[in-house]
Amino acid sequence: MQYPRAFTLTNQQAVAQKVAALEKAEAGLVMASGMAAISTSLLSFLSPGDELLIQSDLYGGTHSFIHHQLKEIGVKLNFFSLSEQDRVAEKITSKTKVLYIETPTNPLLEIADIKALASIAKEHGLISMADNTFASPVCQNPYELGIDLVIHSGSKYLGGHSDILFGVVVGSKTHIEQIRPNAMAYGGVLDANACSLAERSIKTLELRVTKQCENALELASFLQTLPQVKRVYYPGLKEHKGHALASSQMKHYGAVVSFELQSFIDPTAFQQALSLIIPAVSLGGIESLITSPALTSHHKVSKEEREQMGISDYTLRLSAGIEGLADLKLYIEEALKSISN
Ligand SMILES: *Cc1c(COP(=O)(O)O)cnc(C)c1O
Repeated sequence: MQYPRAFTLTNQQAVAQKVAALEKAEAGLVMASGMAAISTSLLSFLSPGDELLIQSDLYGGTHSFIHHQLKEIGVKLNFFSLSEQDRVAEKITSKTKVLYIETPTNPLLEIADIKALASIAKEHGLISMADNTFASPVCQNPYELGIDLVIHSGSKYLGGHSDILFGVVVGSKTHIEQIRPNAMAYGGVLDANACSLAERSIKTLELRVTKQCENALELASFLQTLPQVKRVYYPGLKEHKGHALASSQMKHYGAVVSFELQSFIDPTAFQQALSLIIPAVSLGGIESLITSPALTSHHKVSKEEREQMGISDYTLRLSAGIEGLADLKLYIEEALKSISN
């Protein structure tokens, strides 16, 4: 079929091959969004009656998809938290077909042991999938660590300019060929225009993400020194509980930093006073963005549950951009000063 929904375009193939190369995988498919990549991949390896073994801390869209659409067709969900990741094998039953992880997590940046989990999946004949959006291929390559399918929301770091929506799934030729007919049937295939923007974006991926990670690491240490900040969450800090694991599997620690303000600081006023750092929900673009998970990504989670997870009303998630570090620090200091007057 010579039709773009059948992945016939040269630029669809070019983008898929580039991301596959960045992830050291064999093949890939470019999808219309990260959610199209996630839903199509999961539906390709799960049937009614099967069990999905999945991390409990997930991107909101994935959480919603598995709880609604997957559950409705009769897929059973079996959750594990990252604090019990060394006991995941005990949760596998004869019905388990897929093991799904996402690392670092949103917003506290907890780290899954990719190699260990991939090897458990292999031992038990499961297909393993990792959402690598938060790390980007610059920081981490789960396929190299044994994961079968690596998924990205290209709308974040791969796109990098907060102006396109796309997704990618990469893996072995065999696994990608199993997904392809479903991708064509469900129809979440990327169009030519978004493809050319994606291709343009990937040319600067390494430059952008390296600078973003440098900014994030510096900002994490800087935030730790501020009396208005109670706690900083960043895998690059040695105080972070996932630091050793992150050091073993990540090249950089990512460009997202989360932190908790002291309760005498109004988080909304602080975000509004930042000006250089824009209050917005997305992440991964060249401009620094800040958001309150309690009001955005986790607003459907009850306050008690949120607090159990470690997310308070004072927790903020910062996606570091490529701005000058001195400017970012200055604007944070100025914002804190302006709202404490
Ligand atoms: C944004 C995001 C998605 C969904 O991607 P879309 O392109 O918005 O569909 C999936 N996983 C993670 C971790 C994300 O941040």
